[in-house]
Amino acid sequence: MNKNSSNTMALAPNTSNKRETICIFGTGDFGRALGHKMIQSGYPVVFGSRSTQKSSLIPKDAEVLSHAEAAQKAAIIIIAIQRQHYNFLTSLAEILHGKVLVDVSNNLKINQYPESNAEYLAQLVPGAKVVKAFNTVSAWALQSGTLDASRQVFVCGDDMEAKQRVMDIVRALGLTPLDQGSLLAAQEIENYPLQLFPMWKFPILLSLCLTSFFFFYSLVRDVIYPYVYDNKDFSFFIAISIPNRICPILALILLALVYLPGVLAAIIQLYRGTKYHRFPDWLDKWMLCRKQLGLVALAFASLHVLYTLVIPIRYFVRWRTNSQIISQALNNRTEPLSNTYAWLSDSYLALGILGFFLFVLLGITSLPSVSNNVNWREFRFVQSKLGYLTLILCTAHTLVYGGNRFLSPSSYRWYLPNAYMLSLIVPCIVLVVKFVLIFPCLDKPLTRIRQGWERNPQYSEQSNYIINKSAV
Ligand code: NAP
Repeated sequence: MNKNSSNTMALAPNTSNKRETICIFGTGDFGRALGHKMIQSGYPVVFGSRSTQKSSLIPKDAEVLSHAEAAQKAAIIIIAIQRQHYNFLTSLAEILHGKVLVDVSNNLKINQYPESNAEYLAQLVPGAKVVKAFNTVSAWALQSGTLDASRQVFVCGDDMEAKQRVMDIVRALGLTPLDQGSLLAAQEIENYPLQLFPMWKFPILLSLCLTSFFFFYSLVRDVIYPYVYDNKDFSFFIAISIPNRICPILALILLALVYLPGVLAAIIQLYRGTKYHRFPDWLDKWMLCRKQLGLVALAFASLHVLYTLVIPIRYFVRWRTNSQIISQALNNRTEPLSNTYAWLSDSYLALGILGFFLFVLLGITSLPSVSNNVNWREFRFVQSKLGYLTLILCTAHTLVYGGNRFLSPSSYRWYLPNAYMLSLIVPCIVLVVKFVLIFPCLDKPLTRIRQGWERNPQYSEQSNYIINKSAV
């Protein structure tokens, strides 16, 4: 069956008589797409249009009447018209009195008007019950049936019964209504489709800045320095060596930044002695994008794994290994096995493997399909306890990688330490502060604060005062 065909038949013919008639104002893209879907779900549909001539695009089973005639046929009217054309509705105020008007409109810019389109509609037709819905679903998705990513329909309105009726329709169309409360929520719902990856902006911007910084830092240390001092051209390091240096650094720093706001929040709560004061805005925003920060960190860690896997087949690495073997053969000397280096190398790899495994586990549990199937305690256990364990393993992986090179003067070129040393600053701070916070003298008051206890209960004193005053 051609989904786009205008000869749409009701998929539930037996129930069509039971469904109430729905009126749709506007025979544009969205009105038609919604009309198709409604008819498929067994709703009789009547369109209200400026032109009552039926075009071939309009579903065969639908009627097209004037706005006034169409409105009289239904108790629920979907306004599939742009906000700037709403004015004509005032002339229909009498007919629309008591009816449920569903505002589906979107804007071109965030907060384009002082009030939401739905509130504006409610002002124009004060006798109607306005409900905001369907604006996050696209006409294309409705018609093509590809609704997987946008199955959720945000609904809000001041009239509970009207909102419930619209939510029933949403469900009948195979979508999921999400009650967002009163019509005050409409502005936020209208802004929603205009947002472009809102939670990803900070993590992506931050990783871009850090990537550029560490790229130039490594370029100076690993390419320019050998060229200036030894006249050696290591510019090919740009292809694999430098990215493989940057990726684990970024993964570690970003993972530490996932846990840093939690530690800062704990310090703030301990200092204030209450959890009832709002955190500063920047901390709130930071906490909201921790999942995205973690996923970007996981992407860098995965790249590091891929870059590491190709090391044995790199020409430079094979050339260096062969040269060392030849040099040993020419000098008739065999390097003895160093147990210390063997331990360091194996421990470094083992820590990396375990760290990456837990990193992937954290990423998987952050997927909605998985996180929806675990309870809050299980989710916290994975994201907090296993998360800290991942941070410990990845920090240890970098520390062991450094081994005894931390104090070696050759690690400092132009007084610049190796880039991985810089990557340890944030994770070490987070782990040390977290370690201090688990001491009972801090952990106990923090737990009590998080359970609602206050050191200086200003609010309850104030409310007691108000209660006492009103009692007098
Ligand atoms: P559209 O294709 O431009 O259709 C708008 C319809 O409004 C027209 O077909 C026309 O219907 C009616 N209209 C235009 N000027 C009018 C006027 N001066 N007075 C009365 N009616 C007028 O727009 P659309 O894409 O269907 O969007 C309609 C609404 O749905 C918009 O508010 C939009 O924000 C919202 N929406 C659209 C989508 C989408 O994917 N397209 C998704 C979510 C929400 P008649 O010729 O029948 O009178």
